[in-house]
Amino acid sequence: MSINDYIHERLDRIDKANLRRTLLTFDGPTGPHAIIGGKKYINLCSNDYLALAGDPRLIEAAGSYGEKWGTGAGASRLVTGNLACHEQLEHEIAAFLGFESALCFGSGYHANTGLIPALSTADDLILSDELNHASLIDGCRLSKARRMVFRHADLNHLDDLLREHGNGARNALVVTESIFSMDGDAPDIEELVELCVRHDAALIVDEAHALGVTGEGRGMIAGLGLQTRTAAVVGTFGKAFGSFGAFVACSRQMRELLINAARPAIFSTALPPPAVGAAVAAIGIVKKEGAALARKLESNTGALADIARRAGYQVPDPAGAIVPAIVGDEKQALKTAQALFDQGVLARAIRPPTVPKGSSRLRLTASTGHTDADMAKILGAFDEFP
Ligand code: PMP
Repeated sequence: MSINDYIHERLDRIDKANLRRTLLTFDGPTGPHAIIGGKKYINLCSNDYLALAGDPRLIEAAGSYGEKWGTGAGASRLVTGNLACHEQLEHEIAAFLGFESALCFGSGYHANTGLIPALSTADDLILSDELNHASLIDGCRLSKARRMVFRHADLNHLDDLLREHGNGARNALVVTESIFSMDGDAPDIEELVELCVRHDAALIVDEAHALGVTGEGRGMIAGLGLQTRTAAVVGTFGKAFGSFGAFVACSRQMRELLINAARPAIFSTALPPPAVGAAVAAIGIVKKEGAALARKLESNTGALADIARRAGYQVPDPAGAIVPAIVGDEKQALKTAQALFDQGVLARAIRPPTVPKGSSRLRLTASTGHTDADMAKILGAFDEFP
């Protein structure tokens, strides 16, 4: 079979399962609103929860860091790409979250695929929540450790697995998100921390969807004061912080190990200075305005959840800004998304392998930039086509 035949056959299979993904082109920036094909849409699919990606303060900081440091770092941190602005960003995020230290990565995907293999060997055991993000799953896959999956947010199941298998391992690592990216829910994080301490297991928490959103913007672990009982927090600058890149917040010792063992940090170019500048500005804004922004976001998320419920979707109380409206069938999810799009509301269908088969959905996200008029329009669009 030639490579072209393979590509054709594979795409054909994707089409038959209603799983073909396509790129949507925006005429301008995306945030709470977007222009596509000359038409304005309310954007319910962005992770720019605080509408900071278009904030003039971040744009100005990106420009001034670009002027001072250039547009690119030119090398990985370990070669010649370690600029003082990277260390400034790491100091600021570590101080903001109350961790000893932090190390930046090119993205959240890099952070997770670097951190997990760096912390584990074949003698260890990794326990991973079944709904963890693909980057956490891939981080586990890249590790040589024994890997087991616990039922979503099920601490009894995790407890059983740790009891049964934890003793045979040198170290046990527990990997979870604090707010789950596709379901918008959260594990009982305080109980989870307790459980890990009890079993002497190291806890890694991906706070991609909690930073800027809960704990007055500091996420769940820092918001609840659980830093010293958590091995590492992963956060991204590409979501609520309106920029790009990511970090691991951890101990000084762990940072040293990551510099020496986390392959995406070692073998990939350091963050571009304009992204660093925007992230520094975002931390400053969230530090000052985090509580007010979080209140506004909570109110918009509540309104969105009410709209989805009125349209007949079973929506649990969101832990952050993500409201899953589960449709089920892949084709139906595409149809629903198209119907909303026709009404000026952008809510892309999320299908397998991002979510389990038969649980295709609209993953609606709220932003502080959505107005009351937007909410009225969204309500009208759902009323038109539940
Ligand atoms: N972790 C989670 C929970 C995510 O949702 C995402 C992005 N969707 C990532 C990590 C990856 O972050 P990034 O986009 O910076 O690669």
